Amino acid sequence: MAALYENQQLKVYNSLTGKKEEFTPLNEGHIGMYVCGPTVYSNVHLGNCRTFMSFDMIFRYLRHLGFKVRYVRNITDAGHLEDDAEQGEDKIAKKARLEQLEPMEVVQRYTVDFHNILQKFNFLPPSIEPTATGHIIEQIEIIKEIQNKGFAYEKNGSVYFDVSKFNETHEYGKLSGRKLEDMIANTRELAAQDEKNSPQDFALWKKAEPQHIMRWPSPWGDGFPGWHLECTAMSTKYLGDTFDIHGGGMDLKFPHHECEIAQAEACNGKSPVRYWLHANMLTLNGKKMAKSTGNNLLPEEIFSGDNMILSKAFSPAVVRFFMMQAHYTSILDLSNDALLAAEKGYQRLMEALDQLPSLITSGKSSFDYQSWKQKCYDAMNDDFNTPILIANLFEGVKHINLVKQGNETITQEDKALLESTLDNFIFEVLGLEGISEKGQDSNQLAGVVNLLIQLRNEARANKDFDTSDKIRDELAEIGIQLKDGKDGTTFSSR
Ligand code: AMP
Ligand code: ZN
Repeated sequence: MAALYENQQLKVYNSLTGKKEEFTPLNEGHIGMYVCGPTVYSNVHLGNCRTFMSFDMIFRYLRHLGFKVRYVRNITDAGHLEDDAEQGEDKIAKKARLEQLEPMEVVQRYTVDFHNILQKFNFLPPSIEPTATGHIIEQIEIIKEIQNKGFAYEKNGSVYFDVSKFNETHEYGKLSGRKLEDMIANTRELAAQDEKNSPQDFALWKKAEPQHIMRWPSPWGDGFPGWHLECTAMSTKYLGDTFDIHGGGMDLKFPHHECEIAQAEACNGKSPVRYWLHANMLTLNGKKMAKSTGNNLLPEEIFSGDNMILSKAFSPAVVRFFMMQAHYTSILDLSNDALLAAEKGYQRLMEALDQLPSLITSGKSSFDYQSWKQKCYDAMNDDFNTPILIANLFEGVKHINLVKQGNETITQEDKALLESTLDNFIFEVLGLEGISEKGQDSNQLAGVVNLLIQLRNEARANKDFDTSDKIRDELAEIGIQLKDGKDGTTFSSR
């Protein structure tokens, strides 16, 4: 059978070219995708979750289309300094100092938090989740190579990337649309305070002061790698010198991603990424959610309703639905009213899904379900346009209600098509499957249902079809659908 992607031409907005482009992977049927992961020095806030959720949705749709996706999302557990000008402490080392913990205790605590939260939101795990500290050797090798090629210099045990030298033969600023001359003009006064030759240069390796705990030996003495370098090391190690998709939040475009391009081009002589995808920010009161300003909301505060701006608790599914109602490249503002509206919409969708199995089929439909299904794909093929997809799903809901009220007819075939399309998009692509309303019970539920699936398989093996049908039908009655596929039985719940 042909893979879906052969008939569905996906287009993506490439930040590098500023255009929506037809997406064709480097190797047919396979996609390499890298997304910058969290810096694990505090709890992830909802803004962070939005970016990761945008890429979870993208990962899901690419898989749905039949691509084999190797999705690498790292954990930044060293090297991320407090500000972009590379001043200040390492974020993790600072937290460790303040809380009197080992840096790796900080890393462990917030990596676990990150995974817990993502699980509640029903994220698919990435294929590889490498850590920066696990790739120090690779980073040192890249620095040596960049130095060999003449694009880096050492100063007092630190190594810096020579942006001006690089810009003689390459184009520094091409992703963010900045010109090096303008950057230099804007930062002239700063130059004197810095050991770098120019304020635009950035650290590949930083010398560790005696009190700095996170340190590794290197040809330049004890130190630690620069934040930008770790993503270059981990992406190219697992995906090759050039790979298909690199993602991250819009705020990482400069300097982080610009520096990643410069490092990879300096080291390998090739542009590392074919499609750069940037997810837009979640705001609160019209301002970017950020750890540093305190203008943020934690997922747990939403799940418990324990925050002044909220009138009640909202489930992970509703929050996920709320996020999916906006295009990933648009700014999204979070408010109690917006969450209440999302909750209503989500419930309407789920209620219609519940009605679907009991719809009575009769004559030919007046509605063209085939072209409706294609419209759902068209929305996703147009740079993952989830708000248009959701509008189309509600078109499906409208017809469920019309049939239910007896104002429209539907054939058995169209009913099956409606059901499979809604299932595919709502559960598989938007990821609203299996998120329990409380966000805690999904593991237990999966355990119990899988046990029932086993009992049903045993009953079927014994030709005890009364029992096997009873298990399937009674689960369906409480909203758990079993689906028999070639790889066994799976379930969806609502
Ligand atoms: P960090 O842990 O600070 O490195 O951030 C992890 C990810 O969250 C990055 O991709 C950021 O771009 C993203 N991010 C940070 N703040 C927001 C926000 N308010 N909305 C959406 N994404 C964000
Ligand atoms: Zn990165």
